[in-house]
This record gives sequence, C-alpha cells and structure tokens, in this order.
Amino acid sequence: MARPRTPISATPRAQRFQELKSGLDQLEYFCKGTVLKRMMKCGKTGCACHTDPDKRHGPYFELTYKANGKTVNVKLSPEAAPLYRAASLQYRKLKTLLGRLEKLSQIILRNQAKQAQSQQPD
Ligand SMILES: [Zn+2]
Repeated sequence: MARPRTPISATPRAQRFQELKSGLDQLEYFCKGTVLKRMMKCGKTGCACHTDPDKRHGPYFELTYKANGKTVNVKLSPEAAPLYRAASLQYRKLKTLLGRLEKLSQIILRNQAKQAQSQQPD
C-alpha cells in the first residue's frame, strides 16, 4: 500500500523556499560590479600630485566588473557613485539569495525524484 503523500507545499523545505523567494520582492535595482574610488595623478609636470599622495586629484569613481572574462571599467560621476554602490550591494544580495534557492531546489528536486520513483508500480 502506498503511503499517504505529504503535499509538497507543506514541507519545511518548501516553506523555506517560499520564504526565500519572497525576499526577491524587496529587491531594488541592481548591477554587477564594484564601485571604486580613485585618487589620480595628473599629466602636469611639477604638480604636487606626483610627490604627495594627499595632493592627488579626485576622487574619481568607477564601476568595475567582468564581462566575457574581461574587466570593464565605467567612469561614474560623484553623483552616480552612491546609486551604483547601492545597486552593486543589491546584486550581491540577489546572488546570495539565488545560491540559497538553488541549493534548496536541488534537495527538494532530489527528494521529489525519489518519491516519484517509489511510486512507480513494480
Ligand atoms: Zn596633479
């Protein structure tokens, strides 16, 4: 005789999956990469920036990320920098969340596959 089946949606793992998934609702605009703040030396000979690190120009902001194995740098205005910094944190949050959802999915899928197999008539 077959065991009565627990509805898939009622298992603790399935509930955890739903909980994690609802975290996506709080997701804001996101972008891949890291925002860097740089102080630069200029091209003028004799400028103090060449000898004194405190006299370097800037700050200049850049968004840096990898695309097709290459590092891409995008210049950002000082006004844009905080926007992109927040967006890059959102991206990290998304990646973490996706990673957790994937792990949980794998466990659930394995269990479902086992269950489906055990319900095959001999
Ligand atoms: Zn200079």
